[in-house]
Amino acid sequence: MLEWQPLFFTLLVFAFYYALGEQQHQAPTAIPYSTFKQQVLSDQVASIRITGYDILGRSKHSQVDQPANEQGPFDFKTRVPALGDNELLGLLEQYQVEVSVRSEQQPWWLTLIVAVAPWLLIFALFAYSNRALQHHLGSGGNPRFSNAHAKLYTHLENELSYDDIAGLESAKQDLREIIEFLQNPDKFRRLGAKLPRGLLMMGPPGTGKTLLAKATAAEAKVPFFSISGSEFVEMFVGVGAGRVRSLFEQARKMAPALVFVDEIDSVGRVRGTGVGGGNDEREQTLNQILAEMDGFGSEEPVVVLAATNRPDVLDPALLRPGRFDRKITLELPQKEAREQILKVHTKAKPLAKGIDLATIAARTIGFSGADLENLANEAALHAASQNQQRIELADFEFAHDKILLGDEQPIHLNNSDKQRIAIHESGHAIASLLLPHADPLTKVTIIPHGRSLGVTETMPTEDRVNFAKELLQDRLCVLLAGRGAEQLIYGSPSSGAADDLKKCTQLARRMITEWGMSERLGPLYLAQHEAHPFLGMEMATAKEFSDQTAHRIDQEITALVKSSETRILDLLQQHRTQLEQLAQELLHRETLSLSEVQQLMASH
Ligand code: ADP
Ligand code: MG
Ligand code: ZN
Repeated sequence: MLEWQPLFFTLLVFAFYYALGEQQHQAPTAIPYSTFKQQVLSDQVASIRITGYDILGRSKHSQVDQPANEQGPFDFKTRVPALGDNELLGLLEQYQVEVSVRSEQQPWWLTLIVAVAPWLLIFALFAYSNRALQHHLGSGGNPRFSNAHAKLYTHLENELSYDDIAGLESAKQDLREIIEFLQNPDKFRRLGAKLPRGLLMMGPPGTGKTLLAKATAAEAKVPFFSISGSEFVEMFVGVGAGRVRSLFEQARKMAPALVFVDEIDSVGRVRGTGVGGGNDEREQTLNQILAEMDGFGSEEPVVVLAATNRPDVLDPALLRPGRFDRKITLELPQKEAREQILKVHTKAKPLAKGIDLATIAARTIGFSGADLENLANEAALHAASQNQQRIELADFEFAHDKILLGDEQPIHLNNSDKQRIAIHESGHAIASLLLPHADPLTKVTIIPHGRSLGVTETMPTEDRVNFAKELLQDRLCVLLAGRGAEQLIYGSPSSGAADDLKKCTQLARRMITEWGMSERLGPLYLAQHEAHPFLGMEMATAKEFSDQTAHRIDQEITALVKSSETRILDLLQQHRTQLEQLAQELLHRETLSLSEVQQLMASH
């Protein structure tokens, strides 16, 4: 390999420009052509040298001591206009100016450098980056990977087992089959079963995909090669593919083995869809993965596990039979599973007597496994910071609020702001208590959390997957109740309701465009955005209805939100005294639990 050093090239470039600069001895003053001509006319110019359009000249009263010759030194320089000057030669002759003319040609060595230097630079850069590439790919001969990212776990380094993973039974079952195949391939071959090549785990973030892969490696007691798709994206073109090749080569050598590609969506996206025609590196890497999976002989017990949060963006080629022919979907845990996950993550934590994990599980709808682990950890941290010996229910409640609502913010509010927030939150609280289908209230506070100034926390009683229209209508009303209460008491709303309005509008839009809940539009699906199943993200799709319909959708959304507003204003009007009482109590105590709010309401 050539050892061109960058320093050498820097020097070369400098030498090049120095040589160019050398051409011009001492710098003569630049003067306008018109001035030059004036000087000729007033007989001040002794001699000039013409090179193309450039003129170097020496005046008769030169300050320079050295005798003038063809090489200079010169007093001034100027340039002949490209239009030409037919008079000039005549004038020069008339005033007896000594004229010498040089060809425009540069000396041969300069020509050579100008011609060769760029090529040398390009060649050097190529050699240099090639060397960097070699470096990244790692030189063979090392049994472990010489590159930093790909990791080889053996079962010895990794103590994790399936017992550390709560729930996910059907996923474990599928994986056990794979383990069995890796440990005893002959049993399957004898019966002529087609051997699994790949298994794709799909599910929202934090549902235990990575965890499951690691535990599988430990359970299978086979070499486990792990690599993350996102690592490929930032690499030089060609490196990712090279790494995939060497990864599979190693796995084959050590077969039976497991290869785990985490976050495969970052390389496995549908090809050619990226901005500007897609990322070459990604495509090459993906192609290499596909080629490797196709290249397995049936006698090679190597299984590829992959994980993704975004199955919808995966290249269909990945899902073709013979590649990731098994797919398992991991869902957010339901109540039972949440309790088990909490059990796993509180195993080594001393809990106060009487703490019922089932109650905590019931209150953590929508939490992923990772969220629950975080909850247990935050609770332990809080208990420790209070110098407790055991973790109390209050610590879990603190952690729950912290995760859901963000940290308590030490914002100082003046009294009139506090009063308004108390009214606003009381509105939400009363609405959720009075409306028959609203999610039950759990607590209400005017202590700022995260980015909101006050919080009314409600929590569904069960894991819901389907929402009745009445429930959604009540939800709209609860969302509008904060602003409604302000309007009722102060006569006008404030800026504090922006987030409520956003949620309310989005919900109303979905009710009308996705769930056909408008009488006038009928049961049509009119959404312009596909809600992403896992991420709660929206992706724009083509509009498949007329502008007229779009206009009617807007009208319907406005009508739905407005009728909800009327409804909630009526309700709050009827319970105005209770609203004011509740706000008063909130100002006084800052946080009220459900039972405290209920007591207060009952006493009036
Ligand atoms: P993913 O890869 O799906 O985004 P991870 O596997 O990284 O999620 O999970 C993150 C953490 O969440 C894990 O380290 C684990 O502590 C916890 N976790 C997730 N699911 C479970 C589960 N079913 N049982 C126990 N812990 C879990
Ligand atoms: Mg993961
Ligand atoms: Zn609000």
